[in-house]
Amino acid sequence: MESSDIEHAQRRIRESAAVAPGDHAPTLPGLDKLSHARASLPDATSADYLSGLGPKSTFSHLMDDIVPAFNGENRSGRYWGFVTGSTLPIAELADNIVSAYDQNVQVHLPTQTIATEVEDAALKMLLRLLRLGEPEQWEGRTFTTGATGSNILGLACGREAVIASRLAEASESVGEIGLLRACAKAGIEEIQVLTSMGHSSLSKAASVVGLGRASVKLLPYSDAEPWRLDINAVERELQRQNVASIIAISAGEVNTGRFATTGAEDMNRLRHLADKYRAWIHVDGAFGVFARVLPAKDEYASLHRANAGLGLCDSLTIDGHKLLNVPYDNGIFFTRKSSILNNVFKNPNAAYLSSDNTSQIQSPLNIGLENSRRFRALPVYAVLRSEGIQGISQMMERMVITARAIARAIQSCDDYVLLPEAGPGPFSIDDDVHIVVLFRAKDDALNKTLVQRINEGNKWYVSGSSWDGKPAVRVAVSSWRADHVDAFDTVKESLSAISQSHKASRL
Ligand SMILES: *Cc1c(COP(=O)(O)O)cnc(C)c1O
Repeated sequence: MESSDIEHAQRRIRESAAVAPGDHAPTLPGLDKLSHARASLPDATSADYLSGLGPKSTFSHLMDDIVPAFNGENRSGRYWGFVTGSTLPIAELADNIVSAYDQNVQVHLPTQTIATEVEDAALKMLLRLLRLGEPEQWEGRTFTTGATGSNILGLACGREAVIASRLAEASESVGEIGLLRACAKAGIEEIQVLTSMGHSSLSKAASVVGLGRASVKLLPYSDAEPWRLDINAVERELQRQNVASIIAISAGEVNTGRFATTGAEDMNRLRHLADKYRAWIHVDGAFGVFARVLPAKDEYASLHRANAGLGLCDSLTIDGHKLLNVPYDNGIFFTRKSSILNNVFKNPNAAYLSSDNTSQIQSPLNIGLENSRRFRALPVYAVLRSEGIQGISQMMERMVITARAIARAIQSCDDYVLLPEAGPGPFSIDDDVHIVVLFRAKDDALNKTLVQRINEGNKWYVSGSSWDGKPAVRVAVSSWRADHVDAFDTVKESLSAISQSHKASRL
């Protein structure tokens, strides 16, 4: 392709992805566009299955057949399914730079590229943004592919530490002698992961690092507050003989958005217990920790309380591609000591991979899963430089205000109820809602089809969930496009219309 063709193509991408201010792209593409795209995929039985189309025809194929069959998760401010995040324009530009220059951020080469230093600068800025303390307190820091990747790092480090603390020889570690031998030498019969409503990826991480999904034990505070960790139960579990433990804190929990701990006292007590019983504390703060960036206003006091003390953990998971609004794939991991990451992830005996200096910056390939890595730090760096703490705080506030407006719209319709219904105290939209809202229709028949009806309307998109054994609808606001006025009107109008048409159909 000529460079003028490339420029033209890039303009076309931008034009097709653009959304006018105040406008909302459809949340779903429509089944006709999906069928068309599906039919355009190569046919393995055809003679020209792998014959090249050339860049021009391929580009037309991508834009005309494939792109129309994408959902609106980035382009609609009302795509409230899962917790997807969106992409700030400056993050998209940075990501294009990443592709254009394709730096391999694996070995720290300070005389050859600035990439590792930019990555470290972004990580240090994140620590300050989230008020987690100084970089010296978080020597182990790296970018991952997402919160799942970070949770794998967290359990790998936890496993390493809880076993090492029970081994006689300091030189031995799981990374060196393996899980089975290390546990046998340390007299460990079981490693358990203690949590409350831990994210599904925590169980996956437990499987990956050899603890097993069954090692994840739920210790809910009560039926009414299952997201909250029962710290008395944690203490009892920590006292079991020949058992080592990792405490995994859901901050916040992905279904309800609520937090496992209620304040600094909880975290202080957990820290004390973990030290006493040689346990590891991992915080999964994929989206929840961003509540720390909200302004110090009364309406966020409860969220700030729930987040207090989280910095007492040993390791922390954060998602970049969710609330920070950078493109996939982007996660962040912090832990106290880089040596523990090194024990797990080092590439031994590979002289050609060695770094050419002895600075504080570790070669990323020795502290994380991948060797060759994308320069995924650059979009985060760009967002932090562009928005600053104030801009990011305002973006987080917009998300919370929009989620609260959605909760109020639901509350204003008699036919629906916000969840969880029963609680220890009154559930307060103005105090407790962060970015997730859970609700259901009061009528069981309507409730069963509610998610489908909302999503078919193509104005807003939600995820199906369940609460107390019944279907529920989950809304998660995670885009910089969040607009509370539009959200309130859209949800109220749509929910009223849905319940009216349901009632009419039953007459
Ligand atoms: C989304 C999420 C994860 C998984 O994150 P990915 O970025 O999808 O890998 C883990 N924990 C929590 C709390 C989450 O919200």
